Amino acid sequence: MNEEINLIEKECSLCDNVFAVEIQEDGKYENGHYFGEIKVPIGVGENIPTGEKLWGCPVVNWSGKEKTIEYWECDDCFNKEED
Ligand SMILES: [Zn+2]
Repeated sequence: MNEEINLIEKECSLCDNVFAVEIQEDGKYENGHYFGEIKVPIGVGENIPTGEKLWGCPVVNWSGKEKTIEYWECDDCFNKEED
């Protein structure tokens, strides 16, 4: 048997818990819940209104740097939301 399991540490985006995600060979994972990538503003900058509106809210552009993070939730937070 040539079973390879990769364990990757991820941080919960809600409670900052660090948990280990099992990544299997076929790309599936166990533990935690992945919601995709989100952009968060970092450093110095400001929100500049573009003049557009989306769902009634003004759309802004962040003038500073952003970084892309993976949004993960741990099992605890994920299960809490279902209540
Ligand atoms: Zn959590």
